Amino acid sequence: MTKMFYEKDANFNFIQERKVAVIGYGSQGHAHALNLKESGVDVVVGLYEGSKSWEKAVADGLEVMAVDEAVKCSNAFMILVPDEKQSKLYQESVKPYLKAGDALIFAHGFNIHFNQIVPPADVDVFMVAPKGPGHLVRRLYVEGTGVPALIAVHQDYTGKAKDIALAYAKGIGAAKAGVIETTFKEETETDLFGEQSVLCGGVTELIKAGFDTLVEAGYQKEVAYFECLHEMKLIVDLLYEGGMERMRYSVSDTAEYGDYMVGKRIINEETRKEMKKVLKEIQEGKFAQAWILENMTGRPVFNARRNEEVQHPIVQVGKELRQMMTWLKK
Ligand code: NDP
Ligand code: MG
Ligand code: MG
Repeated sequence: MTKMFYEKDANFNFIQERKVAVIGYGSQGHAHALNLKESGVDVVVGLYEGSKSWEKAVADGLEVMAVDEAVKCSNAFMILVPDEKQSKLYQESVKPYLKAGDALIFAHGFNIHFNQIVPPADVDVFMVAPKGPGHLVRRLYVEGTGVPALIAVHQDYTGKAKDIALAYAKGIGAAKAGVIETTFKEETETDLFGEQSVLCGGVTELIKAGFDTLVEAGYQKEVAYFECLHEMKLIVDLLYEGGMERMRYSVSDTAEYGDYMVGKRIINEETRKEMKKVLKEIQEGKFAQAWILENMTGRPVFNARRNEEVQHPIVQVGKELRQMMTWLKK
């Protein structure tokens, strides 16, 4: 099994002797900044003038500055602005102030792996990527545990990049849960493949296809919604807690038999072939190129598809049904 790193493997001095600028205060940023600070790290938050996150960070008791000011007074920078904004931010507000031996840190490998950011040779470049949304990274830290994380070293100028990465992972609570070493290539390509083929693209199309099939056959759309979307959570919770075997143990034998008989007819050889094509496009940088171009041209395809998706009948029926689910957070 892959080696896991835990708190005992991390020497906290490597991050405590640094001043860390957390750039961005969104999902990941707020969790990293608060967790590091409460772990005893000297932290400053970097934001732009007029950012709605600014007041929030101040209210949370953090020191906040413009990005370039934060970079100037720090020697480790965690870049937590949206991936498509990182390249411009790096060029304008980080690169001009980099000093030899600084640490440039990411929570996702996209910009380094696809050469949208090319740092000078005399800085460390590494990743600490929690495997969970920022709000969970924060909540579990407060509860005294943590979300697992991946670390990867792209460039090791000081010879200490991995030590600093492990210390950082400890500071956000991730070393309590376990840290796995990966590469920028592996993290980036698997992350994109997973969200496209399985987690986001795969799941939403599967749900819609099931919903449409039932509704077109004359079944009530409310019933179709419950069966194809709402119940997904119950199944995913079982998968998360105990894998496929736990899910299959918990559902009825009828459901388990149907699973074995039908699953491969839905996700068939054609689907697997297509997944291989999708992966190849990611590996060759075709997906990255398209997404970068989208952002350079004002996101024409992205916006058109977003508008189209909200027209699907499952959106409206879901809105109405969730009104009645008083236990859901609004
Ligand atoms: P969010 O969109 O939640 O937050 C972005 C933050 O950056 C906001 O505080 C925003 O401020 C600020 N910001 C935007 N533009 C600028 C700018 N030009 N200068 C300074 N600050 C700016 O991002 P995420 O936390 O989701 O993502 C950050 C990174 O973490 C990405 O690399 C992502 O891939 C990675 N990641 C995200 C995970 C997640 O669960 N969300 C999981 C693992 C990794 P304002 O809102 O005021 O505009
Ligand atoms: Mg992703
Ligand atoms: Mg059922």
